[in-house]
Amino acid sequence: MNWNFQNSYTDLPNIYYSNVKPQNFQNPKLLLFNNELADELNLEVNNNEKAICNFLLGKNIDKKNFFSQAYAGHQFGQFTILGDGRAILLGEHINKNNIRFDIQLKGSGQTPYSRNGDGKATLGPMIREYIVSEAMNYLGIPSTRALAIIITGEKILREKYEPGAILVRVAKSHIRVGTFQFGSLLRNIKEFNNLINYTIKRLFPEIDNNEKKYLNFFKKICELQMNLIIEWMRVGFIHGVMNTDNMSISGETIDYGPCAYMDNYNPKTVFSSIDQMGRYSFENQSKIALWNLARFAETFLHLIDNNENKAIKLVENILIENKEKFENCWLEMMCKKLNLSTHENNQKLIYDFLDIMHIYKLDYTNTFINLEKNNLDENIFGDWLQKYNLKTKKKYFKINPVIIPRNHIIENIIKESYKENYSKLFTFNEILKFPYVENKNNKKYRKLPKDHEKVFQTYCGT
Ligand code: AMP
Ligand code: MG
Repeated sequence: MNWNFQNSYTDLPNIYYSNVKPQNFQNPKLLLFNNELADELNLEVNNNEKAICNFLLGKNIDKKNFFSQAYAGHQFGQFTILGDGRAILLGEHINKNNIRFDIQLKGSGQTPYSRNGDGKATLGPMIREYIVSEAMNYLGIPSTRALAIIITGEKILREKYEPGAILVRVAKSHIRVGTFQFGSLLRNIKEFNNLINYTIKRLFPEIDNNEKKYLNFFKKICELQMNLIIEWMRVGFIHGVMNTDNMSISGETIDYGPCAYMDNYNPKTVFSSIDQMGRYSFENQSKIALWNLARFAETFLHLIDNNENKAIKLVENILIENKEKFENCWLEMMCKKLNLSTHENNQKLIYDFLDIMHIYKLDYTNTFINLEKNNLDENIFGDWLQKYNLKTKKKYFKINPVIIPRNHIIENIIKESYKENYSKLFTFNEILKFPYVENKNNKKYRKLPKDHEKVFQTYCGT
C-alpha cells in the first residue's frame, strides 16, 4: 500500500501548525473502508484488515511529519482561538492525476490545541459523518469525503461510556476562514501574506498571477460558498454549526456535527441543541455565510487596497452582489425543482408551494417527487396546481433526490452499531450511492419517520 505524501502546508511558518503523533491503539478494527474513494486516490489496497488499519493510521511511515493545524473562529458569534483539537493530518497525498488531498485522522488523540478535550471521537458521530458526507458527495455536492472508520477499542466517556472511533477524512484542503482569522491575529504581515499566497497557489492557481489577485480570491470564495448553500437548500440540508472555523476555503462542506437533512419543511428548522436563537437555521444559511465571508475579508483588507476605507467599500460591494446573486440563483434552483422554465417569472408559484408545504408540514424531499409523479394531494394543492398547469414545463435531471440520509434512519443505524450489528450501516451506504434513482431497494428508505422515530436534535460530536 502506498501513500504518496508531499506536504506543502508545513512549509508555512510553524506558527500555523504543530507536529503531533497519533496515539497508539492496541487493537484497532476496520469498520468501514471506502473502496471507490481509495480508487480515486490510487491506493492499492489488499484485503488484510490489520494491514489496512496500520496503513490508515500511518504506522509504517515517519511520524515526525504528522501535524495538526492552528486556527481560530467565531463560534455562534464568539471569537475563540481553536485548532485541530482532535485531528491530525497524516499528510498531503498526490494521486496519479496530480491532485492533492489532505488525509486526516479525526479522533486520534490529544494535540496542543485540545484545550480541555480528550482529542477523541465516539463511534456514533463518526458514523453520522461518514454517512452524511458520502451522501453529500453522491448527491453531487462538494464535500470532504470519508475514507474509513476505525474502531479504536477504547471506551470514551461522554454522558456514558461509548466506543471510540477514528474517521479517516479526505479533503481538498482543511484551510478555513478560521485559519485566516488566526493568521491575522498574529499581526505579522509577512507570515499572513505567506498563508494567503500559499492558499491561492494551492487551491486557485488560475488567479495567482492576476493583477487584483486578492480581490479576485475573495470573489472566488464568495462564489464557492454561495453555490454550496444553494446546493444545501436544494436537498434540504442544514449544516447546524456554520462557525467560521467550519467554513472551508475549498468550498467543500466540512464538519458534520449536529447537521441534518430536513424531513417536513419548515424554514426555521435547527438541529443543534445549542442553537436556541436559530442562528444556523435552514433559511438563515445564506445570511450566515455572508456574515462569515465578511469576517474572512476583514483579515486581508490591507492586501485589497492600501486605503482601508476603499478596501471596505470594495468588499461590501462584493457581498451585496453575492446577496443578490444568491437570490437569483435560489429562484433558478427552485424553478428547476418544480420543473419550471427558469426564464419565466415563477416567484409567486415557488413561494406559494413552499408555504403550502410549511403549513401542512409536508416532507421537503417527497413533495417534489410527488409533484414530478403527478401525485400531489388535490385537496391541498388544487388551486396551486391550476396555476402551475398553465406554466411551461421542463424536465431537469439530478435536481430532486429520491433518497436522502434521513435522521431517524441514521439514529437507528447508530443504535444498531452500538450493539455491533453493522448490516444496516453497510446497506444504507450502498443505497445512498444512487440518490436520484427510484427502485425497489430504496423504497423503505423513502418513508417518513413515524412520530416516535422523529429526531429533533442532533449533537456535536465532542
Ligand atoms: P467542531 O465542533 O468539531 O467543529 O469542533 C470545534 C473545536 O473543538 C475544534 O477546535 C475541535 O478540534 C475541538 N474539539 C472537538 N472535540 C474535541 C475533543 N474531544 N477534544 C479536543 N478538542 C475537541
Ligand atoms: Mg470544526
